[in-house]
Amino acid sequence: MPTMTIGHTSPTPIAGEAGAEVLPEAGVEARIHAAICAALMAGKLRPGMPLRERNLAEAFGCTRGAVRKVLARLGAEGKLHLEPNRGAYVPQPSVEDIRQVYSARRTVEAGIVATLCGRLSGEQIARLAQHVEAEEAAFHGHQREASVRLAGGFHVLLAEMVGSADLLAFVQRLIAKTELYKALYDPAEFIECAPTEHRALVAALQTDRLHATIDLMTAHLDDIEKRVVEQAMRAEDVPDVKAIFAASIGQS
Ligand SMILES: [Zn+2]
Repeated sequence: MPTMTIGHTSPTPIAGEAGAEVLPEAGVEARIHAAICAALMAGKLRPGMPLRERNLAEAFGCTRGAVRKVLARLGAEGKLHLEPNRGAYVPQPSVEDIRQVYSARRTVEAGIVATLCGRLSGEQIARLAQHVEAEEAAFHGHQREASVRLAGGFHVLLAEMVGSADLLAFVQRLIAKTELYKALYDPAEFIECAPTEHRALVAALQTDRLHATIDLMTAHLDDIEKRVVEQAMRAEDVPDVKAIFAASIGQS
């Protein structure tokens, strides 16, 4: 799971609201942040769902101020959608948003495997193999959260091996987005990258078959995109009340 620092709140405790007990806010905020991220990644929060400050403060037994800071941080990280004066919502990416981010991933990650193909050191191959083993263990052990995190981690590890901090930061952002999209629209079990496909990629990277390796990565990302888009299209199928009545007014 990529580490995101954008909008990271300061650890300075803030004053509680009138009558509320002042708890060590930084710890509380970290706990709320982790809990909301986990719920998002587990697909428990649905696209477009509002997250009310009051409800969260009651659920976590903390001040609304603490909740507000966490929501602002999640907004800056792109994990929640913030609407001025209305509040925080679970993102509702359109099919087009999903296609855009997978298109960026295909382009960038094709470049990554092209750079690495046939050039990995023995140590790098061992690291990748070890990572895939951990993925397989999580996958077969039905550890969904670890599975999703490790699957994204495989792609981050490849980006890291190119040795460019700029590239790594960009890839981490893209992967964080696709992980969220997958969680929002494909809550079925085991939708993440299949460890067998990652194993095949590691094998291909050790050859000098550049085009075959690029094709393998592209097909791998295509497949995930297709499944997430199918789910999102199903979600978009909910009839639009406004459109229904607009049509009947037009006919009268
Ligand atoms: Zn993958």
